[in-house]
Amino acid sequence: MKIHTRAVHAGDRKKPGRHIPVTTPVHTAASFFYESMEQLDRVFGREESGFSYSRYENPSAVALEELVANLEGGHGALACASGMAAIHMAVVTALADRRKSIVAANALYGATVSLLLNVLEPTGVAIRFADVCDLDALRAIVAQARPGCILVETISNPLLRVGQMDRIAEIAREAGAALVVDNTFATPLILRPLEHGANMVAHSLTKYLSGHGDVLGGVVVSDEPHFEGLRALSRATGPVLGPFECYLTMRGIKTFAVRMEKQCANACRIASWLSAHPKVERIYFPGDPAHPDAAAVRRLFPPNLYGAVVSFELKDAGRDEIFRFMDALKLIVRATSLGDVHSMMLYPVMSSHREVAPKHRERMGIRDSLVRLSVGIEAAEDIIGDLEQALVV
Ligand SMILES: *Cc1c(COP(=O)(O)O)cnc(C)c1O
Repeated sequence: MKIHTRAVHAGDRKKPGRHIPVTTPVHTAASFFYESMEQLDRVFGREESGFSYSRYENPSAVALEELVANLEGGHGALACASGMAAIHMAVVTALADRRKSIVAANALYGATVSLLLNVLEPTGVAIRFADVCDLDALRAIVAQARPGCILVETISNPLLRVGQMDRIAEIAREAGAALVVDNTFATPLILRPLEHGANMVAHSLTKYLSGHGDVLGGVVVSDEPHFEGLRALSRATGPVLGPFECYLTMRGIKTFAVRMEKQCANACRIASWLSAHPKVERIYFPGDPAHPDAAAVRRLFPPNLYGAVVSFELKDAGRDEIFRFMDALKLIVRATSLGDVHSMMLYPVMSSHREVAPKHRERMGIRDSLVRLSVGIEAAEDIIGDLEQALVV
């Protein structure tokens, strides 16, 4: 055969040998080959399990999906191109055969608020916000709005409020609504919402699960009743995660539990150090005994695992003082995102809550003096040393 032909065919589609790779390879193929048309027909007809086309299923993605479904205790999972794609998929799946109405937590990731108000509401989905830490208030709004979907975060951003997941799931079930939970901040090490009655869990894989700041990805983990709908929507719209990202994320997840334990332990030490510092007005940390949701945290979280984000306010600080403080940081990285192995700090007023009107921001409790610290795996004394020298400036 000519080189043009060999260049296209050599090396591929070998029969599997006796060896099995210890980790899942990066399967970049867009489509899959079978010995006969009969067999391909059975795969397309789903009478025989197998891969046909990577928008439907890809071996690298399936391996990651099985892993995350296992961690969250779900029936199945769908790996998506980003956390936002995952949240979108979960919410649209939830509403497929329900009332086009969503009750969402009033403290949500900024882009999630945009998704609700700028993407879904214009298509005719009614959106209401509720304080999901106040169960009576939530019940009242749910009774009025009769939502098809309730959307909450396990630990809210940036004030780190923690709702009672099992009670919220009860309210959703009684109302016939699907409960969708963004579990990015808590991770399945701390809480597995499906075990408390949630129907779908979304993650930004970009954060703790991949953990190294080098992947953008998301995932939806689903209970059995919603899984077919989720997959069908994905087949039709194609927001899937590429095989390289699946591979990197699986590699990251192998160390996720040890990273998260270390990050949570560091966060506990840093929160208590900050709370005693004369320049710190107040801290926000779920492990703080004075935290408004301390009872829920005690009941639902394992001991000593409170997440690895600490928010705090500096005394008498505005934008100028915060900029001076953050510019003085030498180790902690000034950047958006969270959950990486390195510590990072963000100024919510400038970033995640930039688009929110100052008056509304004030009502949400997000002040000009507030910063958010994502604690990494470095030695706690080095992170504290960096905060200490920057607080002197
Ligand atoms: C980062 C984040 C998202 C969005 O994830 P992307 O991967 O950036 O699309 C959603 N929810 C929370 C809580 C996040 O932290």
